[in-house]
Amino acid sequence: MKKILIVEDEKDIHELIVYNLKQEGYELLSAFTGDEGLEKAISTKPDLILLDIMLPIMNGLDVCRELKANDKTTHIPIVMLSAKNEDVDIITGLELGADDYITKPFSPRVLIARIRTILRRGEQSKDTDSKVIKLGDLIIDVGRHEVLLNKKSVGLTLTEFQILIILANRPGWVYSRAQLIDELREGHHVITDRAIDVQITNLRKKLGEFGKYVETVRGVGYRMRENI
Ligand code: CA
Repeated sequence: MKKILIVEDEKDIHELIVYNLKQEGYELLSAFTGDEGLEKAISTKPDLILLDIMLPIMNGLDVCRELKANDKTTHIPIVMLSAKNEDVDIITGLELGADDYITKPFSPRVLIARIRTILRRGEQSKDTDSKVIKLGDLIIDVGRHEVLLNKKSVGLTLTEFQILIILANRPGWVYSRAQLIDELREGHHVITDRAIDVQITNLRKKLGEFGKYVETVRGVGYRMRENI
């Protein structure tokens, strides 16, 4: 049974989420402040976290930052819950490594669809194949969700990891932002081009020197350099 941690201080919304997700058969954990959410995420290692941005004691962005900086929790997908006027925070959240966001008020149906898509992506990257991709000093173990650069582990979020796999699977091949969005989301909902750019920027940063091989093709999209 998949475990989902809900970090949301607004009781009505919290209860609504619990009610709907319970019916879908998920195991649910609750936190009502940022620090409680952080603590529960670390101690229970859920399969996914729904994280409100405006939270008491510690806000959602700080929680996200801490979780993504922690090797033990960096792989856990985070869906940010935001109010309508929090666009800047959404971009910050994505920059910090959140995988997705949903704007309040949302319909339970949309929330469930979003959760399913993300959990399925996690499954795929775990199960599909035990393939290992090698590009110069970079080794991607697809099955184990592990990236080694000069034999050192690189902590990537699920989305960064999947973008890397898509590009690394076909070096030299240019992917448009729309194609990347399709591959990531399976067409379930819209994610912006800007979000893809943010993910690529994060990925490059984490890959350090190797990041330069993730090339921008002006006006078209992104590719992994051939002949590394
Ligand atoms: Ca709130």
